[in-house]
Amino acid sequence: MADCIFCMISQGKVPCHKVYEDEKCFAFLDIAPVSRGHVLVIPKEHAAKMHELSDESCPALMLAVKKVSKAVQEAFSCDFNILNNNGKMAGQAVHHVHFHVIPRRGIKEEFSFNWVPRKQQGDDDAEEILERIKERIIGSANKQ
Ligand code: 5GP
Ligand code: ZN
Repeated sequence: MADCIFCMISQGKVPCHKVYEDEKCFAFLDIAPVSRGHVLVIPKEHAAKMHELSDESCPALMLAVKKVSKAVQEAFSCDFNILNNNGKMAGQAVHHVHFHVIPRRGIKEEFSFNWVPRKQQGDDDAEEILERIKERIIGSANKQ
């Protein structure tokens, strides 16, 4: 996509600190890292959100996330978060699918991800939620 910053980065049109590249994926340092070694892993295919990504790019992306995560873990002997935001309400600022790999070394690198308020899942509502989601899962063995 012509005006997408992450497409431009993966095509070499905008500079970045490249960490990894293969046929379908690309990884580079985040310009504003949450912690030292914060990497973004993207598909070369342009898709704004995860559910819009092709079935070909999806497994390739997960494998690239795993490879980058392993390298980051070994490089810094750290724990790490893998985060993926989809849509503005979910905090997505760049609308090209990307996974954040964020090293976590301790209290000095705390960052907040707003998990509150949280409620107890009620059984009645759980049934309705299951019905709505499960009937939309394509090719699923979930159907009973
Ligand atoms: P989001 O909020 O969409 O999940 O995260 C987008 C991330 O992309 C942010 O962490 C931001 O710092 C990073 N970012 C935005 N523009 C650029 C850029 O031009 N180069 C690099 N390396 N990272 C970027
Ligand atoms: Zn793009």
